[in-house]
Amino acid sequence: MTSKRQTTCPGCGDRFDAITGPTHAYMTSSPGCYTAFNSLLAAEYGDPALLPTHRLTVDTYAVQHPGDPNARRAVQSVGLHLARLKLQLAHDLPPKETNDVMLGLSKHKSSLIALAPPAQFTQTVADIAPHAGTALHSAKVSQWALTTWQDYAAHHTYISEWIAQTGL
Ligand SMILES: [Zn+2]
Repeated sequence: MTSKRQTTCPGCGDRFDAITGPTHAYMTSSPGCYTAFNSLLAAEYGDPALLPTHRLTVDTYAVQHPGDPNARRAVQSVGLHLARLKLQLAHDLPPKETNDVMLGLSKHKSSLIALAPPAQFTQTVADIAPHAGTALHSAKVSQWALTTWQDYAAHHTYISEWIAQTGL
């Protein structure tokens, strides 16, 4: 048993060390969880080969930290990041093309509705952060992205239809 005090993240629901520190403006998380997320980002910024992985990391973390369902920016964030996850998991788009599609999608984000997150997530950033910067980084993030997309199964139809109506 560790004596280190831990708290539950209000976003992903996992346990992290009870530290003080910054969190994101509208992706509600605990400081310990946000620190774990930032350790992944730091490894990705340092390695251009991890650019496609970086997109998955950001989108996956965003949908696990939905924030206030009454806040417009939070609502759009979940829908948009779910749509981005779906596209990345479905197609192996080259970076340029992915960027164009992502920008196109975000123009339509005002039509997104609030999507309730699943009761719990199969994997969280706590499972992935220990592999930051290792040879397993990319594979672990891909697995995390896929299980998170599957955890959101209740909204797959909605997201597919939303993407279809954007014409992209
Ligand atoms: Zn969290």
